[in-house]
Amino acid sequence: MNLFELVAFMVCMLCGVIAGTIGFNMGGALIALVSGVAGLLLPVGVMAVTVWCASRLRKLRPPRPTCENGKCHWDEYEVVDCHGDEVIFVCRCGNKYASSGRRFLRVLDDGRKEPYMILVDKHTWKVDNQD
Ligand SMILES: [Zn+2]
Repeated sequence: MNLFELVAFMVCMLCGVIAGTIGFNMGGALIALVSGVAGLLLPVGVMAVTVWCASRLRKLRPPRPTCENGKCHWDEYEVVDCHGDEVIFVCRCGNKYASSGRRFLRVLDDGRKEPYMILVDKHTWKVDNQD
């Protein structure tokens, strides 16, 4: 059990105990048991819904396209620089990219930038032909 699991376990137990105590004060042992179990499961449900929503949002609008080598996904880039509204990323392969507005540009070794991908609607990256 790592630290996160331990904290999650303790939060679940605490919610169970609190809900169980409230249930006991309201209507006795049976209600205490039911509300205790419900309280125990509540944080698990909240966490599951949060994780599900976050993954849906990321799928709907990947903030960065897959890299040129097709190896690195949107969450595998590292921010290395940023000026104005332009953010410079490096993927795990070592390629450099610049993100500016809807465009994602490849930054060459000599500093020149080539069009790479463009966000054509809310959810889709397409090859940028610069037209
Ligand atoms: Zn890569």
